Amino acid sequence: KTIVEFKRVCKTYGDKENLIYALRDVSFTICQGEFVVILGPSGAGKSTLLNLLGGMDDVSSGTICINNQQIEVLSETQLADYRAKQIGFVFQFYNLIPTLTAFENVALMKELKKDVLSAQEALERVGLKAHQHKFPAQLSGGEQQRVSIARAISKKPALLLCDEPTGALDSQTGMLVMKQLKDMCKRYGHTTIIVTHNSALKNTADKVIYVKNGMIENVVTQEHPCDID
Ligand code: ADP
Ligand code: ADP
Repeated sequence: KTIVEFKRVCKTYGDKENLIYALRDVSFTICQGEFVVILGPSGAGKSTLLNLLGGMDDVSSGTICINNQQIEVLSETQLADYRAKQIGFVFQFYNLIPTLTAFENVALMKELKKDVLSAQEALERVGLKAHQHKFPAQLSGGEQQRVSIARAISKKPALLLCDEPTGALDSQTGMLVMKQLKDMCKRYGHTTIIVTHNSALKNTADKVIYVKNGMIENVVTQEHPCDID
């Protein structure tokens, strides 16, 4: 089942004299439950793609369907609701609140939606229950990222969007975080989309979408993605 469909999406910045194409004529689909890596160099249009997927920005032309809902026709209020209920975000630098414990950082999310995981259960899923009362500064980078993943999955999002989730970690810790993201994608079924310039992350993906100069260079579906160990 298709969960994401981009049809001929263009995104431009600037005005007529100085038009910047961040995305030109981008079309692709993502299936429910897929573990997807969007790979491309700096300036390729990856952040723009993620912002469109997350309902944080709107297209210049073309259509985006998520869960059979065209999102570019939604009002601001509907978009806010879409972001709050359907989308989990994971950022490069974790974006945890330093004065709140791991538990409190995750529990914050509960306000947004009715059917959510308890903060404890979300932290259990990432293996951090024992650390739930620590503050971010008392946790390693990898652990902080796992707290931020717990926060993102606690609202049971349809889409988990990860922006360079391993970018601040050493490569070994980064691969552990990737493994956890993939294991949870397969176990709990939320579609996971990872945006990165790091081609080491692509081997584990069900689908790799290569972007460059605002265009899709290639989409590779991997029948037998590598396990991470
Ligand atoms: P990536 O995330 O792959 O590095 P981006 O999506 O950030 O790429 O950027 C794609 C292109 O769009 C780049 O040329 C960038 O300079 C341009 N761009 C992105 N955001 C803006 C903006 N707000 N205003 C003008 N140009 C932008
Ligand atoms: P590495 O990750 O080892 O530095 P690359 O990422 O350049 O190497 O390429 C590794 C493999 O990924 C290549 O064998 C190729 O099949 C695939 N690949 C790289 N870039 C693309 C692309 N734009 N389209 C399709 N496949 C690609």
